[in-house]
Amino acid sequence: MSSGRTVLFLEDDKDLQSLVCTFLREKGYRVESARTAAEALALLAHVPVDAAIVDGLLPGMTGADFIRELRKTHPELPVLFASAFWKDLKSHEMLTRQLGVARIIHKPYRPEELLVWVGQLFAPAVPPPPPREALEEVEAVGDDLAASLAALNAEYGARLREKVGGLEALLGRVRAGEAGAMEEAYTVVHKLHGTAGSYGFAEVSAAAGRLEELLKPGRSGGAVDWAAAEEAFRELATLASVPVKAGAAVAKPAPVLPAEGVLLVVDEDAAVLAEAERLGRAHVVRVLTARTADEARAVARRQWVDGVLIHMHLGGELGGLEAAHALRAEEGLSLLPLAFMGVGSALEDRVAAAHAGASLFLPRPFTSQDFTAAAERMVAARRPERSRVLVVDDDPEAITALTRALASDRIEVVGISDSHGLMEALAEHRPDLLLLDVQMPGPSGFDLCRILRSTPEWQELPVLLITAHLGLEFRLAAFQAGADDYLSKPVLREELRARVQARLERARLSRERAERDALTGLLLRRPFIDGVRARLAESQRQGRPLALCFLDVDHFKRVNDQYGHLAGDRVLTRLGRLLGARFRREDVRGRWGGEEFVVALLGETAESAKEILTRTAAELAGMTFEGDAGEAFHITFSAGIAVSPGDGDTVETLLKIADTRLYRAKANGRNRIET
Ligand code: GH3
Ligand code: MG
Ligand code: MG
Repeated sequence: MSSGRTVLFLEDDKDLQSLVCTFLREKGYRVESARTAAEALALLAHVPVDAAIVDGLLPGMTGADFIRELRKTHPELPVLFASAFWKDLKSHEMLTRQLGVARIIHKPYRPEELLVWVGQLFAPAVPPPPPREALEEVEAVGDDLAASLAALNAEYGARLREKVGGLEALLGRVRAGEAGAMEEAYTVVHKLHGTAGSYGFAEVSAAAGRLEELLKPGRSGGAVDWAAAEEAFRELATLASVPVKAGAAVAKPAPVLPAEGVLLVVDEDAAVLAEAERLGRAHVVRVLTARTADEARAVARRQWVDGVLIHMHLGGELGGLEAAHALRAEEGLSLLPLAFMGVGSALEDRVAAAHAGASLFLPRPFTSQDFTAAAERMVAARRPERSRVLVVDDDPEAITALTRALASDRIEVVGISDSHGLMEALAEHRPDLLLLDVQMPGPSGFDLCRILRSTPEWQELPVLLITAHLGLEFRLAAFQAGADDYLSKPVLREELRARVQARLERARLSRERAERDALTGLLLRRPFIDGVRARLAESQRQGRPLALCFLDVDHFKRVNDQYGHLAGDRVLTRLGRLLGARFRREDVRGRWGGEEFVVALLGETAESAKEILTRTAAELAGMTFEGDAGEAFHITFSAGIAVSPGDGDTVETLLKIADTRLYRAKANGRNRIET
């Protein structure tokens, strides 16, 4: 651990001076301390130092000015810049690119963290992670994805030999004393170390890690043990020349994950199903088929579907409606996009379809255009439920490997290789989670993490750091910087997926908790209004109507008084579930407060909205509730409907008018709907 290196520590705060000096000396560094720029320059004139730690704000000048001065005499000296300011990316660029600062450390920092960075400047004491078995196959992915994964692994494997060949030449140039060759060689080895494991070449990664360690001293002008390095290189070359898995070589590299939709078609007629499958193949929609409601449920339980197209008269009289209700009753499918197909389109059928939650109604048999338009709409509707992960890594191959490991029907991955572009990428892609490489040119993962934690908009964004060094110090630094979790390179697919999914799920739950009412599962007032405002704008652009409905349970006070408060709560829960399960996924439902509910139906007129609510009322009337003492009772609701554009074009006006009509429904005897 001892390094015998000399570090200049320029810091005007005496307390910080003594703390850091103690830590550094403890770890075997010689420390020359200075409190002002003049003191430091005088020191540098007669004491050789191996690195400098410079405070951002010095008496009488900035740290940047000092470094500019320093560069005149010490152009190559590794410098760590420590500051409570300079947190934006532009400053980063200036300090690192123009002034050659090796690393910017944000204050307040922990001395352990500083030690890690100082160690990085020389030969880090942290050993490479032990080689581990990379899990080869990912069972959860479909055949297509598995095939393209195999193809990519094979492609990387094939290029490994080429890379190692190039490395051999580079090492020759290093030994011939060529300037800059060492850095180039080191970069190649470092990337092999970090990335090969992600592609399943764990042994290659480990061998590269050993070579990396051996080359490190050479980067800062020290001596390299060439005998050992030669041996490590030969080991690496042997491992890299092992032929990759059979069969993989013929597969060609696939483009990044095709965003293929999955559509379940339910119809008892084999010819209809066959036609759907044919159209699916022609239009990049994966079509799954089922002949009965039970089969459909089994399929949906087994695998992800983006939408369902159901024969309205499945097995006879409106069997499709029951199939739809059954599907949506499955866990996690309450908002599954639905479409029905049937003969003709009587208002009766259309209303039933809308009530059941169908966004679309197709003629049966369908034309190719009808089918593909419906498939596209359903897949698009489902897509916002996918989580988006943004990966920042300076190695494009690492990005590809992480994308391969993570991308699925539920997770979309976007990657950037320049950490300076982070803020723009966040604004553009609005990710649900961020994966950050720790060691990158420019701002490190730690730096970016800190910047995010001080940006209100991204404070809550889950951040996972990926690092090649998993020592205690790194973990401390990671949490200090505000990261949620960390992973070590080489990244194992299963571990990566598990950690990312756990974070995403947690973030989703906390968002839900913030937006939804616990008793009914419906949106709270504020998110409901936001949702309706968005739908209203959409309907106005499309020139379609929007119906806003206010619902209020009749004589609810009496329910509480006669059957107990808990029975009252059960009524609210079941009504909330009913409203949540019916209607289309684009319709917005909320609990306004107490026993008042609100529903916005997109594209419905006063007449059709009233029809739809009448069905809901009938369903509710058919439900039997149980009082706290076991007695059975029934409930009804009253409703008022306001429609845009006829009644107004703002959410506020529509709410007011719907409320007035609800009041009228109450006055006119309850259990009725006024438009
Ligand atoms: P109306 O037909 O005119 O709407 O009569 P109502 O009794 O339903 O209306 P009112 O507004 O007078 O009473 C609403 C009652 O709902 C009063 C309140 O105690 C009860 N309530 C509000 N929130 C909850 C809740 O979360 N759980 C239960 N059990 N009761 C609630
Ligand atoms: Mg009431
Ligand atoms: Mg009320």
